[in-house]
Amino acid sequence: MAITVVGSVAYDSIETPAGRRERCLGGAATYFSLAASFFTDVRVIAVVGEDFGPEQDAVFQKRNIDIRGIERAPGKSFFWEGSYLDNLNEAKTHTTDLNVFALFEPKIPESYRDSEFLFLANIDPVLQRRVREAMPDVKLVAGDTMNYWIKDHKPALLEVLKGLDILLINDTEARMLAGNNNLVQAARAVMAMGPSSLVIKHGEYGATLFHKTGPKGESVERTFKAPALPLEEVVDPTGAGDSFAGGFFGYLASQPEPTPAVYRRAMFYGSVMGSFAVQRFGTERIAELSRKEIDDRFTQFRELTHLD
Ligand code: AMP
Repeated sequence: MAITVVGSVAYDSIETPAGRRERCLGGAATYFSLAASFFTDVRVIAVVGEDFGPEQDAVFQKRNIDIRGIERAPGKSFFWEGSYLDNLNEAKTHTTDLNVFALFEPKIPESYRDSEFLFLANIDPVLQRRVREAMPDVKLVAGDTMNYWIKDHKPALLEVLKGLDILLINDTEARMLAGNNNLVQAARAVMAMGPSSLVIKHGEYGATLFHKTGPKGESVERTFKAPALPLEEVVDPTGAGDSFAGGFFGYLASQPEPTPAVYRRAMFYGSVMGSFAVQRFGTERIAELSRKEIDDRFTQFRELTHLD
Protein backbone atom coordinates (compact mmCIF):
# COMPACT_ATOMS: atom_id res chain seq x y z
CA MET A 1 0.00 0.00 0.00
CA ALA A 2 1.24 3.50 -0.76
CA ILE A 3 0.27 7.01 0.30
CA THR A 4 0.77 10.01 -1.94
CA VAL A 5 1.04 13.25 0.05
CA VAL A 6 0.96 16.84 -1.16
CA GLY A 7 1.85 19.67 1.22
CA SER A 8 4.51 22.11 2.29
CA VAL A 9 8.18 21.17 2.32
CA ALA A 10 9.81 24.09 4.03
CA TYR A 11 12.46 25.79 6.07
CA ASP A 12 11.28 26.76 9.56
CA SER A 13 12.73 29.17 12.10
CA ILE A 14 11.37 28.24 15.49
CA GLU A 15 11.52 29.71 18.99
CA THR A 16 10.33 27.79 22.05
CA PRO A 17 11.14 28.03 25.78
CA ALA A 18 13.89 25.45 25.06
CA GLY A 19 15.71 27.69 22.54
CA ARG A 20 15.78 28.85 18.94
CA ARG A 21 16.61 27.18 15.60
CA GLU A 22 17.07 28.95 12.27
CA ARG A 23 15.96 27.45 8.97
CA CYS A 24 15.61 23.82 9.94
CA LEU A 25 13.93 21.36 7.59
CA GLY A 26 10.16 21.47 8.12
CA GLY A 27 6.86 21.60 6.32
CA ALA A 28 3.65 19.68 6.79
CA ALA A 29 4.43 17.09 4.07
CA THR A 30 7.89 16.56 5.55
CA TYR A 31 6.67 15.67 9.04
CA PHE A 32 3.77 13.66 7.64
CA SER A 33 5.90 11.56 5.31
CA LEU A 34 8.61 10.88 7.89
CA ALA A 35 6.01 9.65 10.41
CA ALA A 36 4.01 7.61 7.86
CA SER A 37 7.17 6.00 6.44
CA PHE A 38 7.40 3.73 9.49
CA PHE A 39 4.11 2.07 8.43
CA THR A 40 3.85 2.16 4.62
CA ASP A 41 5.35 3.48 1.35
CA VAL A 42 5.16 7.25 0.99
CA ARG A 43 5.40 9.44 -2.12
CA VAL A 44 5.65 13.23 -1.88
CA ILE A 45 4.39 15.98 -4.19
CA ALA A 46 5.79 19.46 -3.42
CA VAL A 47 8.08 22.15 -4.69
CA VAL A 48 11.33 23.46 -3.23
CA GLY A 49 13.69 26.25 -4.25
CA GLU A 50 17.36 26.46 -5.18
CA ASP A 51 18.21 26.68 -1.45
CA PHE A 52 17.17 23.02 -0.95
CA GLY A 53 20.19 20.75 -1.07
CA PRO A 54 21.28 17.10 -0.99
CA GLU A 55 21.44 17.22 2.81
CA GLN A 56 17.66 17.85 2.93
CA ASP A 57 16.95 15.22 0.24
CA ALA A 58 18.90 12.72 2.31
CA VAL A 59 16.47 13.05 5.26
CA PHE A 60 13.70 11.69 3.01
CA GLN A 61 15.88 9.14 1.23
CA LYS A 62 17.07 7.65 4.50
CA ARG A 63 13.44 6.73 5.24
CA ASN A 64 12.90 5.41 1.68
CA ILE A 65 10.41 8.16 0.90
CA ASP A 66 9.82 8.68 -2.81
CA ILE A 67 10.70 12.30 -3.65
CA ARG A 68 10.49 12.10 -7.44
CA GLY A 69 7.42 14.36 -7.10
CA ILE A 70 9.36 17.12 -5.30
CA GLU A 71 9.99 19.67 -8.01
CA ARG A 72 12.91 22.10 -7.85
CA ALA A 73 12.02 25.60 -9.04
CA PRO A 74 13.94 28.84 -9.39
CA GLY A 75 13.59 30.90 -6.22
CA LYS A 76 13.39 30.17 -2.49
CA SER A 77 11.67 27.33 -0.62
CA PHE A 78 8.58 27.91 1.53
CA PHE A 79 9.63 29.63 4.75
CA TRP A 80 7.74 29.70 8.05
CA GLU A 81 8.74 31.41 11.28
CA GLY A 82 6.87 30.81 14.52
CA SER A 83 7.17 30.78 18.30
CA TYR A 84 5.55 29.05 21.25
CA LEU A 85 6.69 31.33 24.07
CA ASP A 86 3.29 31.82 25.76
CA ASN A 87 1.53 28.59 24.86
CA LEU A 88 3.16 25.31 23.82
CA ASN A 89 -0.12 24.12 22.31
CA GLU A 90 -0.44 26.89 19.77
CA ALA A 91 2.12 28.39 17.42
CA LYS A 92 2.29 32.12 16.97
CA THR A 93 3.11 32.71 13.30
CA HIS A 94 5.55 35.55 12.59
CA THR A 95 6.29 34.94 8.89
CA THR A 96 4.77 32.82 6.13
CA ASP A 97 6.63 33.16 2.81
CA LEU A 98 5.05 30.90 0.20
CA ASN A 99 7.94 31.61 -2.22
CA VAL A 100 8.06 28.81 -4.86
CA PHE A 101 4.64 27.51 -3.70
CA ALA A 102 2.99 30.71 -4.96
CA LEU A 103 3.37 29.57 -8.59
CA PHE A 104 3.36 25.82 -8.06
CA GLU A 105 1.53 23.63 -10.61
CA PRO A 106 1.48 20.15 -9.07
CA LYS A 107 2.41 17.32 -11.45
CA ILE A 108 1.76 13.72 -10.45
CA PRO A 109 4.59 11.38 -11.50
CA GLU A 110 3.37 8.33 -13.43
CA SER A 111 4.90 6.10 -10.74
CA TYR A 112 2.57 7.64 -8.09
CA ARG A 113 -0.63 6.84 -10.00
CA ASP A 114 -1.33 3.49 -8.34
CA SER A 115 -1.36 4.98 -4.78
CA GLU A 116 -4.45 3.78 -2.90
CA PHE A 117 -4.24 6.53 -0.27
CA LEU A 118 -3.98 10.28 -0.62
CA PHE A 119 -3.09 12.79 2.08
CA LEU A 120 -3.67 16.49 1.47
CA ALA A 121 -1.31 18.00 4.04
CA ASN A 122 -1.45 21.65 4.98
CA ILE A 123 -1.01 23.92 1.94
CA ASP A 124 -3.13 26.22 -0.25
CA PRO A 125 -6.51 24.48 -0.69
CA VAL A 126 -6.39 25.27 -4.41
CA LEU A 127 -3.34 22.97 -4.69
CA GLN A 128 -4.96 20.33 -2.45
CA ARG A 129 -7.99 20.26 -4.73
CA ARG A 130 -5.94 20.00 -7.93
CA VAL A 131 -4.11 16.96 -6.60
CA ARG A 132 -7.36 15.40 -5.37
CA GLU A 133 -8.92 15.84 -8.82
CA ALA A 134 -5.86 14.41 -10.54
CA MET A 135 -6.10 11.24 -8.43
CA PRO A 136 -9.80 10.25 -8.62
CA ASP A 137 -9.21 6.51 -8.09
CA VAL A 138 -7.69 6.55 -4.60
CA LYS A 139 -9.41 4.42 -1.94
CA LEU A 140 -9.22 6.85 0.98
CA VAL A 141 -8.47 10.58 1.16
CA ALA A 142 -7.50 12.45 4.33
CA GLY A 143 -6.43 16.03 4.81
CA ASP A 144 -5.38 18.81 7.12
CA THR A 145 -5.50 22.60 7.08
CA MET A 146 -4.85 25.54 9.43
CA ASN A 147 -6.20 28.93 10.56
CA TYR A 148 -4.23 30.73 7.81
CA TRP A 149 -6.34 29.00 5.11
CA ILE A 150 -9.61 28.90 7.09
CA LYS A 151 -9.53 32.67 7.61
CA ASP A 152 -8.77 33.92 4.11
CA HIS A 153 -9.34 31.01 1.71
CA LYS A 154 -12.56 29.47 3.00
CA PRO A 155 -14.47 28.98 -0.30
CA ALA A 156 -11.54 27.00 -1.77
CA LEU A 157 -11.21 25.04 1.46
CA LEU A 158 -14.92 24.11 1.46
CA GLU A 159 -14.41 22.60 -2.03
CA VAL A 160 -11.56 20.45 -0.66
CA LEU A 161 -13.66 19.27 2.30
CA LYS A 162 -16.30 17.88 -0.07
CA GLY A 163 -13.72 15.41 -1.43
CA LEU A 164 -12.32 14.23 1.93
CA ASP A 165 -13.06 11.03 3.87
CA ILE A 166 -11.08 12.13 6.93
CA LEU A 167 -10.16 15.61 8.17
CA LEU A 168 -7.57 16.16 10.91
CA ILE A 169 -7.51 19.61 12.54
CA ASN A 170 -6.92 21.07 16.01
CA ASP A 171 -9.72 22.26 18.27
CA THR A 172 -9.23 25.99 17.60
CA GLU A 173 -9.40 25.30 13.86
CA ALA A 174 -12.55 23.15 14.24
CA ARG A 175 -14.32 25.90 16.19
CA MET A 176 -13.18 28.52 13.68
CA LEU A 177 -14.25 26.46 10.65
CA ALA A 178 -17.68 25.70 12.13
CA GLY A 179 -18.19 29.12 13.75
CA ASN A 180 -19.28 27.27 16.91
CA ASN A 181 -17.46 27.05 20.25
CA ASN A 182 -19.07 23.79 21.37
CA LEU A 183 -16.75 21.05 20.15
CA VAL A 184 -19.43 18.39 19.54
CA GLN A 185 -21.63 20.80 17.62
CA ALA A 186 -18.58 22.09 15.74
CA ALA A 187 -17.63 18.49 14.84
CA ARG A 188 -21.10 17.81 13.49
CA ALA A 189 -21.04 21.01 11.44
CA VAL A 190 -17.60 20.21 9.99
CA MET A 191 -18.66 16.65 9.10
CA ALA A 192 -21.67 18.09 7.25
CA MET A 193 -19.11 19.84 5.00
CA GLY A 194 -17.87 16.47 3.66
CA PRO A 195 -15.62 14.21 5.75
CA SER A 196 -17.24 11.14 7.36
CA SER A 197 -14.44 11.04 9.95
CA LEU A 198 -13.01 13.94 11.86
CA VAL A 199 -9.97 13.87 14.13
CA ILE A 200 -9.75 16.87 16.43
CA LYS A 201 -6.32 17.28 18.02
CA HIS A 202 -6.01 18.87 21.46
CA GLY A 203 -2.21 19.27 21.69
CA GLU A 204 -0.93 17.93 25.02
CA TYR A 205 -4.48 16.74 25.90
CA GLY A 206 -4.75 14.12 23.15
CA ALA A 207 -7.19 13.81 20.26
CA THR A 208 -10.84 12.94 19.64
CA LEU A 209 -12.19 10.93 16.72
CA PHE A 210 -15.72 11.56 15.47
CA HIS A 211 -16.55 8.75 13.12
CA LYS A 212 -19.57 7.68 11.09
CA THR A 213 -19.58 3.93 10.44
CA GLY A 214 -21.90 1.79 8.35
CA PRO A 215 -23.60 2.48 5.02
CA LYS A 216 -24.93 5.99 4.37
CA GLY A 217 -28.41 6.59 5.81
CA GLU A 218 -28.05 4.04 8.62
CA SER A 219 -24.61 5.08 9.76
CA VAL A 220 -23.81 5.22 13.47
CA GLU A 221 -21.88 8.13 14.92
CA ARG A 222 -19.09 7.13 17.29
CA THR A 223 -16.65 9.10 19.38
CA PHE A 224 -13.26 7.88 20.60
CA LYS A 225 -10.64 9.69 22.62
CA ALA A 226 -6.90 8.97 22.64
CA PRO A 227 -4.66 10.56 25.27
CA ALA A 228 -1.37 12.29 24.69
CA LEU A 229 1.61 10.92 26.57
CA PRO A 230 2.46 13.08 29.60
CA LEU A 231 6.01 14.20 28.76
CA GLU A 232 8.47 15.79 31.17
CA GLU A 233 9.96 17.99 28.49
CA VAL A 234 8.45 19.38 25.29
CA VAL A 235 11.27 20.90 23.25
CA ASP A 236 9.45 21.94 20.07
CA PRO A 237 5.76 21.33 19.26
CA THR A 238 6.26 22.10 15.53
CA GLY A 239 5.12 19.21 13.40
CA ALA A 240 3.29 17.37 16.18
CA GLY A 241 0.00 17.60 14.26
CA ASP A 242 1.53 16.44 10.98
CA SER A 243 3.40 13.63 12.69
CA PHE A 244 0.13 12.59 14.37
CA ALA A 245 -1.48 12.56 10.91
CA GLY A 246 1.42 10.49 9.50
CA GLY A 247 1.14 7.87 12.25
CA PHE A 248 -2.65 7.80 12.02
CA PHE A 249 -2.97 7.58 8.22
CA GLY A 250 0.17 5.47 7.79
CA TYR A 251 -1.22 2.86 10.15
CA LEU A 252 -4.66 2.93 8.43
CA ALA A 253 -2.95 2.38 5.07
CA SER A 254 -0.99 -0.57 6.44
CA GLN A 255 -4.11 -2.49 7.48
CA PRO A 256 -6.26 -4.69 5.20
CA GLU A 257 -9.54 -2.94 6.12
CA PRO A 258 -10.23 0.39 7.84
CA THR A 259 -12.55 -1.08 10.50
CA PRO A 260 -13.61 0.95 13.60
CA ALA A 261 -11.03 -1.01 15.65
CA VAL A 262 -8.31 -0.06 13.15
CA TYR A 263 -9.34 3.62 13.39
CA ARG A 264 -8.98 3.43 17.18
CA ARG A 265 -5.52 1.92 17.01
CA ALA A 266 -4.62 4.51 14.38
CA MET A 267 -5.49 7.22 16.93
CA PHE A 268 -2.93 5.69 19.30
CA TYR A 269 -0.24 5.46 16.59
CA GLY A 270 -0.96 9.10 15.78
CA SER A 271 -0.40 10.05 19.41
CA VAL A 272 2.77 7.97 19.52
CA MET A 273 4.29 9.80 16.53
CA GLY A 274 3.17 13.21 17.83
CA SER A 275 4.82 12.48 21.18
CA PHE A 276 8.17 11.74 19.50
CA ALA A 277 8.04 14.81 17.25
CA VAL A 278 7.98 17.25 20.18
CA GLN A 279 10.99 15.80 21.98
CA ARG A 280 13.60 17.52 19.77
CA PHE A 281 13.70 20.54 17.45
CA GLY A 282 12.34 20.12 13.92
CA THR A 283 12.49 16.64 12.43
CA GLU A 284 15.50 15.57 14.54
CA ARG A 285 13.65 12.94 16.58
CA ILE A 286 11.07 11.70 14.10
CA ALA A 287 13.65 11.13 11.35
CA GLU A 288 15.89 8.96 13.54
CA LEU A 289 13.33 6.65 15.18
CA SER A 290 13.29 2.87 15.11
CA ARG A 291 10.21 0.67 14.77
CA LYS A 292 11.03 -0.81 18.19
CA GLU A 293 10.84 2.62 19.85
CA ILE A 294 7.43 3.13 18.21
CA ASP A 295 6.11 -0.25 19.38
CA ASP A 296 7.42 0.28 22.93
CA ARG A 297 5.71 3.65 23.14
CA PHE A 298 2.48 2.14 21.78
CA THR A 299 2.58 -0.32 24.69
CA GLN A 300 3.19 2.58 27.08
CA PHE A 301 0.07 4.29 25.68
CA ARG A 302 -1.99 1.14 26.17
CA GLU A 303 -0.88 0.92 29.80
CA LEU A 304 -1.76 4.58 30.31
CA THR A 305 -5.43 3.92 29.55
CA HIS A 306 -5.96 0.26 30.48
CA LEU A 307 -8.55 -0.26 33.22
CA ASP A 308 -8.06 -3.78 34.65
P1 AMP B 1 2.08 21.54 12.73
O1 AMP B 1 2.05 20.05 12.66
O2 AMP B 1 0.72 22.12 12.69
O3 AMP B 1 2.93 22.03 13.86
O4 AMP B 1 2.78 22.04 11.36
C1 AMP B 1 4.01 22.67 11.31
C2 AMP B 1 4.51 22.84 9.88
O5 AMP B 1 3.54 23.52 9.08
C3 AMP B 1 5.76 23.68 9.82
O6 AMP B 1 6.86 22.84 9.52
C4 AMP B 1 5.51 24.73 8.74
O7 AMP B 1 6.53 24.75 7.76
C5 AMP B 1 4.19 24.32 8.12
N1 AMP B 1 3.34 25.48 7.83
C6 AMP B 1 3.16 26.60 8.58
N2 AMP B 1 2.29 27.43 8.01
C7 AMP B 1 1.88 26.84 6.86
C8 AMP B 1 0.96 27.20 5.81
N3 AMP B 1 0.28 28.37 5.82
N4 AMP B 1 0.77 26.33 4.80
C9 AMP B 1 1.45 25.17 4.79
N5 AMP B 1 2.31 24.76 5.72
C10 AMP B 1 2.54 25.59 6.76
